[in-house]
Amino acid sequence: TLSDRLADTFKNLRNKGKLSPADVDGTVREIRRALLDADVAFDVVKAFTTTVRERALGDEVSKALNPAQQVVQIVNEELVEILGGTQRRLEFSKNPPTVIMLAGLQGAGKTTLAGKLAKWLAKDGHTPLLVAADLQRPNAVQQLQVVGEQAGAAVFAPEPGNGVGDPVKVAKQAIKFARDKVYDTVIVDTAGRLGVDADLMKQASNIRKAVDPDEVLFVIDAMIGQDAVATAKAFQEGVDFTGVVLSKLDGDARGGAALSVASVTGRPIMFASTGESLDDFEPFHPDRMASRILDLGDILSLIEQAQQAFDEDEAMAVAQKIATDSFTLDDFLKQMQQLRKMGSIKGMLGMLPGAKGMREQLENFDEREIVRTEAIIQSMTPQERELPKLLNGSRRLRIAKGCGMTVTDVNQLVQRFEQAAKMMKTVAKGGVPQVPGMGPI
Ligand code: GDP
Ligand code: MG
Repeated sequence: TLSDRLADTFKNLRNKGKLSPADVDGTVREIRRALLDADVAFDVVKAFTTTVRERALGDEVSKALNPAQQVVQIVNEELVEILGGTQRRLEFSKNPPTVIMLAGLQGAGKTTLAGKLAKWLAKDGHTPLLVAADLQRPNAVQQLQVVGEQAGAAVFAPEPGNGVGDPVKVAKQAIKFARDKVYDTVIVDTAGRLGVDADLMKQASNIRKAVDPDEVLFVIDAMIGQDAVATAKAFQEGVDFTGVVLSKLDGDARGGAALSVASVTGRPIMFASTGESLDDFEPFHPDRMASRILDLGDILSLIEQAQQAFDEDEAMAVAQKIATDSFTLDDFLKQMQQLRKMGSIKGMLGMLPGAKGMREQLENFDEREIVRTEAIIQSMTPQERELPKLLNGSRRLRIAKGCGMTVTDVNQLVQRFEQAAKMMKTVAKGGVPQVPGMGPI
């Protein structure tokens, strides 16, 4: 599945400290393949991977402490963006009734959705009226009546001899009826065909003109696959809609259609239908869908925690110093202090691949160690901190007296600093990341 493939791709990335352009390309290739496998439309995949690639090769990643995780976050952000950003709610008319029209292919789930919406709205204190404007299928009206009964909502159906056969007239009458009887929302169910056709579009478009809806919801079966784009485009051109409802998300569909439709039409996905029962229905949350597609569990929230603990620019500055061989005792102290912040994310480190050693170190970490280190370093002159080579015997004795510790303590600190500096150089050359100042793992 899409989720599995992306998860695999990111598993490889997460073990890496630094990304090369080749890494980024390899990852983007995997994402592309995964999305295509999930039936996301080709153009959408192309646009998506181009954006991800650009951002992954850009500043925000090269500056990040953990570039691989940054890429995961970029993919997530872009998915959420395509899926509509934040969740979009129904627009209610200031001048009731609010009219919601449903459109889509036959079998997409419109009539079922009408019931679901009615039940959901009624629970929220609204008084919905269902309108049977599907006069195409012989028992469509009856189906809506059954659904209405289940939802506890009134149904407006054509009366014999009173415009039967003309869904536009029925819809118009229904709006007037709703206004007279003070229903505050009107849900207009319409006919669908098995495939897109001109008559269907014309009819839906005429209904739209007649009732001037506040929302037109395009209902699409999430299992439709590559046909999603053509169908969505046809409905956008023929009727146009203000929002999308994805139905049958309870099936195997992993969200490929969601991505395609949202991306190609630029319309937000507003609801998700997840079963045949009227309660299998919920407002659509782009971020949750993105997580479903990514299926990375808690990894994203872990990344956020890690980012709070590190100041990225500071980390960059240190990396720079290591590279140019000018890591100082002040830097060493700063890093020790970073460890303190990291103490709060101990549990998290165990969950990240490659961080097990780090966690063990944190577990042995002694808060008093920082206090001692701070005391010793603060007794040094700025020059001594910049150039630890200056620290001869008499200077060490002076420092020990100044902070109330022994020369041995000072010697140990200098030794640990030298080890750390050496280790960090290894890291800078692409070795295994380690916690500075804590000795080798
Ligand atoms: P319409 O032709 O667009 O009005 O579609 P219907 O509402 O009549 O639904 C067609 C079929 O899909 C019916 O058998 C529904 O029970 C089923 N259906 C609708 N929504 C869902 C859903 O979210 N999940 C599942 N599993 N089935 C659904
Ligand atoms: Mg129907």
